[in-house]
Amino acid sequence: MFMNSVTQNLQQVQKRIEAAQKKFGREQEPITLLAASKKQSIVKIREAIDAGLWRFGENYAQEGISKIQALSDVDLEWHFIGTIQSNKCPLIAEYFTWAHSVNSAIIAQSLNRAREIFSTPLNVCIQVNLEGSPNKAGITIDQVPKLAGLITSLPKLRLRGLMTLPEPASTLEAQRKPFRQLARLLLDLQQAGFSVDTLSMGMSNDLEAAIAEGATILRVGTAIFGERL
Ligand SMILES: *Cc1c(COP(=O)(O)O)cnc(C)c1O
Repeated sequence: MFMNSVTQNLQQVQKRIEAAQKKFGREQEPITLLAASKKQSIVKIREAIDAGLWRFGENYAQEGISKIQALSDVDLEWHFIGTIQSNKCPLIAEYFTWAHSVNSAIIAQSLNRAREIFSTPLNVCIQVNLEGSPNKAGITIDQVPKLAGLITSLPKLRLRGLMTLPEPASTLEAQRKPFRQLARLLLDLQQAGFSVDTLSMGMSNDLEAAIAEGATILRVGTAIFGERL
């Protein structure tokens, strides 16, 4: 099977992002491309770095940390995007700059405690389970304001916004629906006085829909790196 290089894939992804920004009137707004590098090799990540990427998202603490160490010769920004287990909070707080998937008071407090030895706070997003599906991580919509309030009270966490991982949908309209809900929820938080600026939403198959609804961080894996190991 013909395999594109990471560089070629990245060009395609950047074209898709620019086309969607144009189509949905978002050319002036910065959109961050976070490369979701779970189960991708160091060789491929280095290819992505050579192609200009420097923000990477990892899902598993151990795997992420070994990559962070293997790539410590480069100045990179690491985001934790996987489900956070409480026993992994110290490692996540130590090695990562962002955690996108905070979904309980206990996790927030553990991350805050583990971050105490650092001067800069950990940037965090609350993961929202919009459909309320039992097998998905994230809190329900009605629980968001309370957790947002708690995170804001913790000195070593900086609440940046919301993240979601919706059920796959096949049409643009169906893909846009949960993203629109998340955007509305961010607006509710802003109107309630929270200074939040981040919508972490959109992956390889639905990044256009996410851009249409105001995504500020896209988490893209396979469209950049190809299939995972
Ligand atoms: C794997 C993953 C992604 C990237 O998914 P792709 O479909 O490979 O683009 C984004 N966000 C999270 C939380 C992931 O686990």
